[in-house]
Amino acid sequence: MPKTLSKSEAKDRIGKLKKAINRYRYDYHVLDKETISPEALDSLKHELKTLEDEFPEFVSPDSPTQRVEGKVLKGFKKAEHKVPMLSLEDTFSEEEFLDWEKRIKKLLNINPPAGGPELFGELKFDGLAVSLLYKNGVLERAATRGNGRIGEDVTQNIKTIESVPLRLERDIEGEIEVRGEVIITKKNFEKINNEQKKKGGQVYANPRNLAAGSLRQLDTKMTASRRLDFHAYDIVGDFSQNLHSKEHDMLRALGFKTDKEAHVMKDAKDVFKFKEKIEKSREKLDYEIDGLVVQVNDDELFKRLGVAGKAPRGAVAFKFSPKEAATKVLDILVQVGRTGKLTPIAVLDPVQVGGVTVSRASLHNEDEIRRLGLKIGDTVIVGRAGDVIPDVKKVLTELREGNEKEFHMPRRCPVCGEPAVKDGPLTFCTNKKCPARHRENLYHFVSKGAFDVDGLGPKIIDALLDQGFIQDAADIFDLKEGDLAPLERFGEKSAANLVKAVKDKSKISLPRFLIALGILHVGEETSSDLADYFGSLEKIEKASFEEVNEIPNVGNVVAKSIYEWFRDAYNKRYLEKLLKRVSIEKYRQPSGKLKGKTFVLTGSLSSLSREEAKSRVRALGGKTSESVSKETDYVVAGEEPGSKFEKAQKLGVKILSEAEFIKML
Ligand SMILES: [Zn+2]
Repeated sequence: MPKTLSKSEAKDRIGKLKKAINRYRYDYHVLDKETISPEALDSLKHELKTLEDEFPEFVSPDSPTQRVEGKVLKGFKKAEHKVPMLSLEDTFSEEEFLDWEKRIKKLLNINPPAGGPELFGELKFDGLAVSLLYKNGVLERAATRGNGRIGEDVTQNIKTIESVPLRLERDIEGEIEVRGEVIITKKNFEKINNEQKKKGGQVYANPRNLAAGSLRQLDTKMTASRRLDFHAYDIVGDFSQNLHSKEHDMLRALGFKTDKEAHVMKDAKDVFKFKEKIEKSREKLDYEIDGLVVQVNDDELFKRLGVAGKAPRGAVAFKFSPKEAATKVLDILVQVGRTGKLTPIAVLDPVQVGGVTVSRASLHNEDEIRRLGLKIGDTVIVGRAGDVIPDVKKVLTELREGNEKEFHMPRRCPVCGEPAVKDGPLTFCTNKKCPARHRENLYHFVSKGAFDVDGLGPKIIDALLDQGFIQDAADIFDLKEGDLAPLERFGEKSAANLVKAVKDKSKISLPRFLIALGILHVGEETSSDLADYFGSLEKIEKASFEEVNEIPNVGNVVAKSIYEWFRDAYNKRYLEKLLKRVSIEKYRQPSGKLKGKTFVLTGSLSSLSREEAKSRVRALGGKTSESVSKETDYVVAGEEPGSKFEKAQKLGVKILSEAEFIKML
């Protein structure tokens, strides 16, 4: 978010944020229309809250940050909470968490280097908070949080939840209030939504909405059919418990279910470790969670810290890194790739997305920028697609300030200055000797899928190019120790190692050689297809356009690119030079038992690397692909499989475990 705003800028931004947030909330909560994700909305609210904290004079009663959640529905009795049900302050990053810790240490007069107070961490379930009042051990009243002071009496509905004891396991005289979260399993959530879809009923956006909707049914039978669950986390009142961890023990003794992962932690470091562990296993949990609740374990200290606004100071919700966040596009740069393609890149105000700070997002091409309607200076929602490169998903035009600038794709290559031409949605530098293309092509040449030269990264290539030791990729094979050793960061020994590494890699398979050439549109899959079809480089070189075009999976555009590459005089000279330095292994065209089968790998395999797995599939005549489609025959799922796994399930593609896969090989 913008670091320093003047007072008037802040006022303006706050006004715009309020408007936008209110509109999205209305869409989401009233119209049941998800115009932006709840995560992106959260991130806008967070910006607003941060700005309001900095400029409290602009906090107004109608600000979304002042909104008290919940409304009493007609049909439910009001239920007053004797002790208000507070909400929690959100923190999103380790930095913010450390700030919180620092703040409470200061308030408790704990001076560094002394450590902070002991902490208690538990999962933050994505459900609905309720209060259960027991009188002489019997459930007397159950109420939703409502606005924190007054909620809805949902006693009859709560009684349908099997994990809520109607009578406590221990005899307790007088009143005791237990608080916790009404939740619903992911499985149940999906099942109910599917049924709703079939019936044409309301489909719920998340388990929290469904839990809330189910609890507020006027028909108790309906609530019962939703099979809700309850996790307790708090006891209100003094029962001589002095630690929050003890409350959890007591709750279990009283007959409640509590979070099994919850435990006492020494300091922030422990918290970060816990968070990392849970974030990794989150997908496997039965319930949806959206972070951790961390609080000061000592009840006395917790009380002393008091309340700020409507949240206790002694606790925070440590939210998981959102997969989407709002930020500003500070600039748009143009990168020139190895094929000469000009790619516009958004320079972002750094923001946390999916657990890492991102400051760049690919905009793909000019048409994509038009489609998004993006201008420089816009506030946008970025997400990480497939958990890799961040994407700009949406432009929030209502947050424009009037000084946003239109972006135009340059007419000339930003690196060499030669004309750039448009080809469909893409733009290319026309200069075959463009230094940017050249450089990128060299990086590509030694990369994993191609010649795979260990230790020859972009920095060394840059140095070799800049000092004139190499002109093209073929020159890499002529490098001598003496050329390398004088380079910065190179000792004699590592120079010798690198020369050896290059030499060792001078024998290469045909598909990898084809990848290394860096032909536009020719990646791993097309290279294998070419090798399978033609069997040798000579045949590929001589192939007519029609012949190349005949290969299944190779369309017109790709065929044209391949055909033209081998006809280009510059490429011809380069190829000739290269072939004097490397040798291509004899290629055995597939006849193996996996012939015609396509495999997609996801997750990590324990017994072999992904590259090995792929080459073994190919050795048996099979094909590998990076994306799952109806044409995929098998998806091999290793540890922590990604979205490909889900896609395979959706499409009904056969999924193999690592053991099954190895057996097949
Ligand atoms: Zn250029």
